[in-house]
Amino acid sequence: MYDVIIAGASFAGLAVANQLKGYKVLLLDRKSIGTGQTSACGTMLRVLEHWDLTDAVLQVHDRFVLHTGRMNIEFPSPYPWCTFDYTRLCKTLFERSGAEFLQATVRGTTDNQVQTSKGSLKARYIVDATGWRGALVSRLNFHRTKKGMNFGVESILTLPGGNGFNPEALHFWYDPVILRGGVGWAFPRGDEVSIGVGSYGRAKKMRPALRRMTNRLGTTYDDIHGTYFPYKLLSPTAGSIFVVGDAAGMCLALTGEGIRPAMFFGEACGRIIRRGLDDGLTVKRSLEDYSTFVRPRRIFFDFFTTVQETLTRLPLRAVDWIARAVSRKWLRSWMFDEYWGLTKSWGENPDLSIDRSGRPMDRRVEDISLGEKVAYGACETREG
Ligand SMILES: Cc1cc2nc3c(=O)[nH]c(=O)nc-3n(C[C@H](O)[C@H](O)[C@H](O)COP(=O)(O)OP(=O)(O)OC[C@H]3O[C@@H](n4cnc5c(N)ncnc54)[C@H](O)[C@@H]3O)c2cc1C
Repeated sequence: MYDVIIAGASFAGLAVANQLKGYKVLLLDRKSIGTGQTSACGTMLRVLEHWDLTDAVLQVHDRFVLHTGRMNIEFPSPYPWCTFDYTRLCKTLFERSGAEFLQATVRGTTDNQVQTSKGSLKARYIVDATGWRGALVSRLNFHRTKKGMNFGVESILTLPGGNGFNPEALHFWYDPVILRGGVGWAFPRGDEVSIGVGSYGRAKKMRPALRRMTNRLGTTYDDIHGTYFPYKLLSPTAGSIFVVGDAAGMCLALTGEGIRPAMFFGEACGRIIRRGLDDGLTVKRSLEDYSTFVRPRRIFFDFFTTVQETLTRLPLRAVDWIARAVSRKWLRSWMFDEYWGLTKSWGENPDLSIDRSGRPMDRRVEDISLGEKVAYGACETREG
């Protein structure tokens, strides 16, 4: 009997496990630790600083380049981003967690049992962190649909020089010649670059789109990896299961940023379970605490979903206009500080000193960004 079984040993699962040192914790994954990279591994540098994982950083970035097909706009970011080594990050987090690991495929769950390809295992707390499939919760018939999912593929390549590509910046393409209703990206990571394409909506003709992206940068791909980006926040609990990361739809629409939320909510989930174990609370109470923590943050996901849906309906000329506006310093500063500030705190310790509506209690009002004020204001109204 384990104290906690965590299905999925990637960002979300490892973040949960790291809060539970000293307890009997089992991590389950069908792949060995650090071998199942699906992402471009770009995130805010402060996330890796917060987790003391800067050894895994491959390259730091403080500039963005937006390519719309008709113009290329380069601008600075007020806070640094980075690309990192997935294997190194996962292995370090696993070693620090003190958890056991079993390489097995999870097949379902009943009561306190998890059924795996290597037999049934029992635990007091069970966490589903298996990515977009939600391997445990989907077996419980909790509603999941591919409707709230974008799809992306990418390849890690070495670029030939002399193509005008700035290797010091994170690049995004909103260019219908590459992919209509989608986005392209190129994230330099030391000697290599992650080049990918993501579709807002159904996975459609992704390989030819990736071919167009790589050709534009003077290269071509062999190996690709990719999967869905689930951006519709689902229930963070299902029966007696805690659901975290992509399994709970915690990847932002539009930007496809899912690592920071997976680790932020994973950390919160792990700390709530730890509080339950330390204080001998019922599992039901811990499930309620986790739901209470996630619930008010739904508005962040809804906000990015609305922006994605709006932008993808706009004519190309409007996208050019927005790109030009973003290059203006005053709008950019506002956008980064407030619009992006909606989730800026997700690089920090999740504040668990929550009242029943989930609002942070011990932060000074002036430290809370306009975005958060709007979000929490909206929650208050919604919950009466
Ligand atoms: C092409 C692409 C590029 C991306 N780039 C970025 C980026 O640069 N920055 C960013 O922030 N986000 C990015 N994302 C999103 C990001 O990858 C995800 O949001 C993030 O990986 C979610 O973490 P997770 O731990 O919830 O799930 P995952 O990282 O998907 O991990 C799930 C784990 O569960 C395991 N698993 C699955 N099913 C089973 C089963 N039945 N039994 C046992 N184990 C199982 C898997 O092997 C895996 O280890 C990208 C996504 C894609 C598709």
